[in-house]
Amino acid sequence: MGTTKVETAARYARGLGVDVRTIPRALLRAEDAAALNGCDVVFSCVDRHVPRAILNRFSYDACVPVIDLGTVFRVDASGTVTGDGGRVVLVGPGRPCMACWGLLDPERLRVEQLPEEERERGRAEGYVLGAELPQPAVISFNTTVAGAAVTELLRMVTGFAGASDPPDRLSFSFSTGTVRRTRLPAGTSCRICGDPQAGDTQVASRGAPQVLAGAPEVSFGMSSFDEILARLKRSIAAAVAGASVDEFYIGRSVNMEGRSSDHGCHEIRCLYETESVGRALDLEDALIKHFHNHPKNNNDQAHSGGSTAEGPQHIYLALWLA
Ligand SMILES: [Zn+2]
Repeated sequence: MGTTKVETAARYARGLGVDVRTIPRALLRAEDAAALNGCDVVFSCVDRHVPRAILNRFSYDACVPVIDLGTVFRVDASGTVTGDGGRVVLVGPGRPCMACWGLLDPERLRVEQLPEEERERGRAEGYVLGAELPQPAVISFNTTVAGAAVTELLRMVTGFAGASDPPDRLSFSFSTGTVRRTRLPAGTSCRICGDPQAGDTQVASRGAPQVLAGAPEVSFGMSSFDEILARLKRSIAAAVAGASVDEFYIGRSVNMEGRSSDHGCHEIRCLYETESVGRALDLEDALIKHFHNHPKNNNDQAHSGGSTAEGPQHIYLALWLA
């Protein structure tokens, strides 16, 4: 109370004999990141999308690795946990950026940049739903994720695990007690991290029936909703076109573990992953509407439904093979 977070953190660090320079200011413009030039590594521990977008851009412009970390923990009115995810994402040249991971929600970026009075008015009129939802910090979850982020720093600095195949992202589920590595395919056309020569994103090759949970086949930069939808439609149409596919189902889930046994299908493909529940719901709904009359589709309704649990959202395709 009465002290900024920066000063409190600095006091603890100085207590360990570390030299500390504080800049107690919000990160609101690209120029503000200039103070980080020359750093060996940056930890991104921000709540908002604007500073995260600035650090994302800075990482590729300045060739400084950024380790982004965060937790999502929500309970509903009855006290039931509805979201309990955590992430450590390693960003920088040669790796997918936070936009490609779906960590920069264009709608949230827009709302955060509105003048305060417009945001107030939008909130009163219901246009900026959820823009300022209180997110309780749970210290044990945060400590787990922060510890994992420091481990990734140690991996970079000491090379203790070798240099080959470092993780790009660690995804934590505290309810299931699991951590998994997730990966995006290389060669995106993202304006920040992509290879401009690579052109459109590609669909991974089809192999033997298997669960591809947690490994999205396509990744997108700051594409518009319509571009993402169009690409997902093309990807699904291509995947279900052959005679080898009997039936398919389009779904959305926070937790991909166990999805194939839930459906009794032969193969699950994760098509898209985003932190935005709204975007995932809208994509799922539009895809089901588009494919519901397809002769092989077995979604039981012409629209989406189900849980709106917080956490990384996966749009997936379940396949029954001939
Ligand atoms: Zn990117």
